[in-house]
Amino acid sequence: MKRLFGILVWLAMVSAPASAIPAGPDISMWRLDCGEIHLSNLDEYSDTYQYVGKQKTLTASCYLIRSGERFLLWDTGLPADLKGQSKEDSGMRLSLRSTIRDQLARIGVRPDQISFVGLSHYHFDHSGQAADFPSATLLVGERDWAAVREREARAKPLLHWVKGGGKVETVAGDHDVFGDGRVTMLSMPGHTPGHRSLLVRLPSTGPVLLSGDVYHFEENRANRGVPGFNSDRADSLASMDRFDRIARNVGARVIIQHEPADIAKLPAFPSSAH
Ligand SMILES: [Zn+2]
Repeated sequence: MKRLFGILVWLAMVSAPASAIPAGPDISMWRLDCGEIHLSNLDEYSDTYQYVGKQKTLTASCYLIRSGERFLLWDTGLPADLKGQSKEDSGMRLSLRSTIRDQLARIGVRPDQISFVGLSHYHFDHSGQAADFPSATLLVGERDWAAVREREARAKPLLHWVKGGGKVETVAGDHDVFGDGRVTMLSMPGHTPGHRSLLVRLPSTGPVLLSGDVYHFEENRANRGVPGFNSDRADSLASMDRFDRIARNVGARVIIQHEPADIAKLPAFPSSAH
């Protein structure tokens, strides 16, 4: 009997392709504009002198995922007080056209409808507007949360949760956000100690893999540039390996969150992917 069970499990595994989308409630995904970052010194984005003397303008993106009645906001972009401004900050020029709250209002979503704010990592260009969603449960890598609690400068946009004002769920490995296998935070440490990417399995569009900052732009993926400021070089390379293998195995549409060329991979807001 035990053996028969084993054979049945094996049959189920080989007959279900990795890319099969699990069933679940109605799901949609929007790309939100969360700012622009002009880098005057791209050299910092590889510790092997890959981009010496180059500059690049990156996009900052956030994503709204609706599963039935519940919403996940993935990353919260540059701080809202940048709206309508252009600010120089240590070799970067930062700007923000519209806040997340403004964009959500356009599609009739209130801030208190956001069940989860999931962070790829704690950096300022990913956590900037988190405080605008105080009733959301914060989903964050366990080791990133430890890093945030250790140094207050990192905690600024997350103070509400640091001080116990909001619910925090720290994520140790991968995490199935809605419990139906369709939206998964994937452990991809290296850029920061608790960094995560996000796999979203949409019924019509298919699997979409959001990079977080495993990569910052396309050339970065092609030549595996590891930024000198990453927290761990070996972990960064291991995460790049895992990211690319998952993308290949599930046949995912890869979106590098900071890559302007990847904006067109999802419908233009306010349209959504399904
Ligand atoms: Zn970033």
